[in-house]
Amino acid sequence: MSSTNYSIQLIAEIIKAKDFTAQQPSEITSLVIDSRRVADPEGSLFFALMAQRNGHGFLADAYANGIRNFVISEPDYFKIYPDANFLLVDDVLKSLQQLAAFKRSRHSLPVIGITGSNGKTVVKEWLYQLLAVDFNIIRSPKSFNSQIGVPLSVWQIEPEHTLGIFEAGISTVSEMEALEGIIQPTIGILTNIGEAHAEGFSSSLEKLQEKLKLFLHSDLFIYAPEYTLGIVENDLPGKTRFSWSMQHPADLQVLFIEPIEHKSYIRANFRGKEIECLIPFSDRASVENGVICWATLLALGYTPEEADLRLETLALVSMRLELKTGINQCSVIDDSYSADISSLAIALDFLNQQNQHLQKTVILSDLYETGKSRQVLYGEIAALLKQKNIGRLIGIGPEISACASLFEMETSFYQDTPDFINDFPTQHFSNETILVKGARRFEFSRISKLLTQKIHDTVMEIDLNALAGNLHFYKARLKPGVKVMAMVKAFSYGSGSFEIANLLQYHKVDYLAVAYADEGIALRKAGITMPIMVMSPEPFAFEAIVKYKLEPELYNPEILTAFAGFLPASTIGYPVHLKIDTGMHRLGFEEPDLPELLSVLTASRQLKVISAFSHFAASEDERHDEFTKIQINRFIEISNKISLGLGYAFMRHISNTSAITRHPDAQFDMVRIGIGLYGFDAGLKGNRGLHTVAVLKTTVTQVKQVSAQETIGYGRRGLLPQGGQIATVKIGYADGYRRSFGNGIGKMLVNGKPAATVGSIAMDMCMLDVTGMEVKTGDEVVVFNDVLTIAMLASQIDTIPYEILTNISQRVKRVYFYE
Ligand SMILES: *Cc1c(COP(=O)(O)O)cnc(C)c1O
Repeated sequence: MSSTNYSIQLIAEIIKAKDFTAQQPSEITSLVIDSRRVADPEGSLFFALMAQRNGHGFLADAYANGIRNFVISEPDYFKIYPDANFLLVDDVLKSLQQLAAFKRSRHSLPVIGITGSNGKTVVKEWLYQLLAVDFNIIRSPKSFNSQIGVPLSVWQIEPEHTLGIFEAGISTVSEMEALEGIIQPTIGILTNIGEAHAEGFSSSLEKLQEKLKLFLHSDLFIYAPEYTLGIVENDLPGKTRFSWSMQHPADLQVLFIEPIEHKSYIRANFRGKEIECLIPFSDRASVENGVICWATLLALGYTPEEADLRLETLALVSMRLELKTGINQCSVIDDSYSADISSLAIALDFLNQQNQHLQKTVILSDLYETGKSRQVLYGEIAALLKQKNIGRLIGIGPEISACASLFEMETSFYQDTPDFINDFPTQHFSNETILVKGARRFEFSRISKLLTQKIHDTVMEIDLNALAGNLHFYKARLKPGVKVMAMVKAFSYGSGSFEIANLLQYHKVDYLAVAYADEGIALRKAGITMPIMVMSPEPFAFEAIVKYKLEPELYNPEILTAFAGFLPASTIGYPVHLKIDTGMHRLGFEEPDLPELLSVLTASRQLKVISAFSHFAASEDERHDEFTKIQINRFIEISNKISLGLGYAFMRHISNTSAITRHPDAQFDMVRIGIGLYGFDAGLKGNRGLHTVAVLKTTVTQVKQVSAQETIGYGRRGLLPQGGQIATVKIGYADGYRRSFGNGIGKMLVNGKPAATVGSIAMDMCMLDVTGMEVKTGDEVVVFNDVLTIAMLASQIDTIPYEILTNISQRVKRVYFYE
């Protein structure tokens, strides 16, 4: 089928623009919703979506990045740039969807549509791995499955593609119809229906029925009866159907699953015949996803023998970038599993968020991007690298090497990964951020291993998307114009230093706050330029505070006069923040201090009050709401007196995390978000709406059998009265796993199952009772995650999540994930 050229005029017709200017002719090749992720500005059409943030606010950024085509819905922005094209519509998202649906309908390729509660992305990626030898496949990047992600994915279809694989995810009723119109799947797969996230639906049946709408016009529908809630087959969608089941008679009925090493041997009945396969995974979710892929291959007509051969080659799917500490003070971003231009733009954007090193290096393999000539593809990549200020490129592969002349930066090229590795000892990497990005077959994980510090087996994983999600959760609850100060004291509640601050700066938080000057200095040295308040400015640190442009919190007359006296007479208007005590009785000025405070401030031109603030003692607790109100009133009264006395206004803030949702009237000019960023809010029932940010994992070092008479660990406190099996794991109180978790108080998840501690927790390790469980050396053990939560751990030892998080010691390596 011939390719359509999407001129701006044609697009205006397709989306029925109400008003439209075409100042210059444009052929549109890329659709853009984020002004920072622009690969090809001339060919890009920017959609000003009203999503988490109003996209119209980013038109200027997009314009500065070279974009000249805009779809907007706010008439005030129409024609704001004379040399740009504007398409005015009622609903920008709908236009994006209409355009993608139009493009889809111009291509008659078979398309697999996948939906379900879990496993969509894995099944999509695995089907890609299994079918890529037979088809030229276009698939959703990463887990692009939303009302926005689906049209962006489907827009990528080109005439040379022979199969599409797209996933669709919904969160409430009446969302699937639009996605069905865009994906138009000819083959449908329902992965499963979980109990989770039933919010947005009145019942499980309603949720299922909404999901099934994706398959309304499909020729073939692949599903498991255990997930269709008793809907009779004839009422299911699909002209033909193929069922798989772990329990019921089905086209593919699994008879048994036998774990062998880390693999699973599966036998099943396939239309009256016994067949088998080996899936190289053993966890439940992977086995189920593997069976779905098996069913799909069979439904598509592959022989059982062929299906078995292919399934054995399935490889782990990782959609996430990992930020790790590298050798020679480097930071390494590991993205060694995918290589297409849209994921490259995301990875470069993340690289660009990193401020800790000036030098930025990209190690990049050949890209497998169909539909573009080599010159065009690598030309685009060269422009992208230049736009993101990449100082050095190391290209690996024959294709990128052949395009060496396109790149205007320091470069070196290698034919393949072993070539690079052989040359590694002569290469120089230090004090730089390195993005390692390559197609799976280049096995770049070998390169990232060389570049990163060996991580000992206990790791805290920090999900940066979850953190950004939590930030947006609170931002969405702020009144217009209210600013955000993010609390990053105590190593960001144990989660990290510049890694977290980079993200917060990127998401345009207004202020950061640290406890001590040295935390602020570390952030400045890592390139953080936004304002930083220091809550405990000690006099010996005044010089550093001024040198690094940190803003002290002044909380009593002594520290106020000391800081004013320290500043040279020539200083004018150094920014400071005043802490007012309204009832916490920790730090802060009180009413009787005001005359002295005002006389010092009015006498000195050196200080400028940027903000006055106070701190709630119990904003999360409804039993203290009366007291919280008293604090608010005192705050208003005292801060009014100060601004009256000073003769100028300043920002006012009092709300911590829980107050944002519980006391919206107390948002004033700014809020200070702490624990909520990290996924906890004692004022929200079950932390509803927040995402889990931190996961702590370790491994089994040894497994032992112990008899009833033997004791386990220091002080001989551990005992298994019936005898049994114990696993020693590599985490102890020096890592922050408190001694009070010992003797059965604490639990960890061993291969997903809970196991209690036995005996005392030692400094570097502890023992778990794994009697009756299948466990061996090297198995993964989860200390906390989204199932076994920090809140549960806190309640086991009668403390609060703040303490569990900040206790995790610095020797536990942090790895940051970003999608
Ligand atoms: C730590 C801190 C906060 C944040 O409190 P959370 O309950 O974690 O949101 C706010 N203000 C001050 C002064 C703090 O010390």
